[in-house]
Amino acid sequence: MPADLQKAIAAAYDELGKKMKQKDPFVAVRSSATAEDLPDASFAGQQDTYLNVKGADVVVQKVKECYASCFTDRAVYYREKQGFDHMSVALSAAVQMMVFSKASGVMFTVNVATGDDKNILIEGAWGLGEYVVQGTVTPDNYTVSKAEGKIVEKNVNDQDIKLIRKEDGDCVEVRVPKKEVSLQKLTDAQILELATYAKRIEQHYGCYMDMEWGVDERDGKLWILQARPETVWSRRNKEKKTESNTVQGMKVDRNVIVKGLPASPGSACGKVHVILDPSHIDDFKQGEILVTEMTAPDWVPAMKKAKAIVTDSGGMTCHASIVSRELGIPCIVGTKSRGAAATSAIKDGIDVTVDATHGVVYEGLIEEEKPAAANAVVPATVQAETFPPTGTKIYMNLGDPDLAEKYSALPCDGIGLMREEFIWTTYIHEHPLYLLKTGHPEKVVDMLADGIRKVCQAMSPRPVTLRFSDFKSSEYRDLKGGDEFEPYEPSALLGWRGASRYYDPKYIEGFKLECAAVRKVREEFGLKNLHVMIPFCRNTDEARKVTGIMAECGLQRSKDFKVWLMAEIPSNVILADQFNEFVDGYSIGSNDLTMLILGCDRDNDTVSHIYDERNLAVRRAVRHLIEVAHAGGKTVSICGQAPSVYPEFCEFLVKSGIDSISVNPDTVKFTKKLVAQLEQRIMLDAATGRGKVEAEDLQW
Ligand code: PEP
Ligand code: MG
Repeated sequence: MPADLQKAIAAAYDELGKKMKQKDPFVAVRSSATAEDLPDASFAGQQDTYLNVKGADVVVQKVKECYASCFTDRAVYYREKQGFDHMSVALSAAVQMMVFSKASGVMFTVNVATGDDKNILIEGAWGLGEYVVQGTVTPDNYTVSKAEGKIVEKNVNDQDIKLIRKEDGDCVEVRVPKKEVSLQKLTDAQILELATYAKRIEQHYGCYMDMEWGVDERDGKLWILQARPETVWSRRNKEKKTESNTVQGMKVDRNVIVKGLPASPGSACGKVHVILDPSHIDDFKQGEILVTEMTAPDWVPAMKKAKAIVTDSGGMTCHASIVSRELGIPCIVGTKSRGAAATSAIKDGIDVTVDATHGVVYEGLIEEEKPAAANAVVPATVQAETFPPTGTKIYMNLGDPDLAEKYSALPCDGIGLMREEFIWTTYIHEHPLYLLKTGHPEKVVDMLADGIRKVCQAMSPRPVTLRFSDFKSSEYRDLKGGDEFEPYEPSALLGWRGASRYYDPKYIEGFKLECAAVRKVREEFGLKNLHVMIPFCRNTDEARKVTGIMAECGLQRSKDFKVWLMAEIPSNVILADQFNEFVDGYSIGSNDLTMLILGCDRDNDTVSHIYDERNLAVRRAVRHLIEVAHAGGKTVSICGQAPSVYPEFCEFLVKSGIDSISVNPDTVKFTKKLVAQLEQRIMLDAATGRGKVEAEDLQW
């Protein structure tokens, strides 16, 4: 430490003591790093911070240690991972008075779970923040509207113990005086004062902010202790605003033809092609807008040609929703239950604009086509972006082999769900039992293996999880020759599907071909990054039979070959302790699991307002599965749509300790950043003892 700097620090410390009317006051020595050319980089928590420092010599020593912490293993590793130049990072040490907090807390200028930025959210508890983190106390929370500067909501919680800092710097637990137990921790005036600071700090930095505050018990003064930028929603909402301005600017003088559920975001305009009869699907031309009652797996080749898709029925997890998100095509579903069926309200051949971000179809061509979210993911730009490492792996749902190359540049850790049905409808088109009967079983094996190979090659060395076939009988019937082999079932979603087929004498030979294709990819093509998943397995007897057949076909679990089970039936969750024995872990199929927990047909738009993966019953099931699976040494992932659609569900999953999350291609980048931010927040909160991590998200 240069002598003049040492002197200057000691003099400033002395000055601070005078202001505080205290010799050698307790201070915090905190580091704060930044890189001017990297406005989005968050270095929070990478360097060291020291609390309760006392005496000029010790302060100087701690400032030195702060500077040195720019080169701890952790900080160096972080910058290497992010691709930041070590020498372009600037670090300062801030010496702050320690606040003897009567009350303390955090505040945000955006709701980090939902992205809502209309309000300022403040949390506060008596004493220091550690007890909130440990779940010992529950903080009050206050919501202040930014526009009106008014308190719009207050939740006051009783608090009977608190942690305080004594004059000598030690922390002790004390009882909250009786008359203060049920009191609001901040007065209304203090809440509004804090909100004013929050707004000014946000304005100053020009992005959403995450701050800490404390009220000093000695003079009742409010202190802002820290402010750091929130990067995920700052960027996402900025993008959204630019998008919606262009769309909404045009809205006013245009006729709305139909509305529906916004199943796959983006907007497009073009000529409508209404298809009522699947036999006319071949007439569909490149660049048209597909309007139909509902799509099915054999429609995928036509869907790929569509600029946008609008359907009469369906919910957020129906075939049209899932496929269009994977293809990156704007899509609106369920128009029938929002007023009018698209196939009757939209005339064939007219020009329309589909705003699938908001679920509205307008008459006429409003604007130039904007690429749908997933199409906007151009590999060239991906390379230039940096993505923070995450402890929770982020996988991608991708079944269409033709898209694998394009999406392989996305920052995902592998493929968490490759639906085998995509390969059937893209390449094979014929029913497996029909091909067996007509003497061409090799067609199934070769074509399946070829499709799987494309994905495994594009993603290598990252793992790819193939989910064995999960067609419903109605969908299998649409494959050539399917009529002869498929029963007519009243509720195909609850019928002959998934594992229940694989050991059935009527289908077992077909399943063996699926297994042979997997073996071919792993052994002949040498692509050992391929693993498999069993869908819709109703009981442990089925799990035993299916894994038995797989083993006979040479697909035995091993260190380098994993077998997963879709957790998508309540029995999978309730009996997870028994299913554990058969698999390496689970991937939650939240689409089917929600349907079966809430009793809502996922394809039925009349109950789509009740269908919601965030329902407490579903969340409890998810938490239970994670607990039981982890207790048995098994991992848990998720591949249903929920985390792609609801960031707050993603937050819930990370907090619940899920091992990986698999999302649609259009949300990989966002999810990667969101999860990194959540993980960092959770880690920091635990390390610094501030009150952010809610002790319990589930009201049991
Ligand atoms: C699910 O059920 O959540 C799932 C991923 O599988 P699918 O949507 O193909 O039934
Ligand atoms: Mg499913």
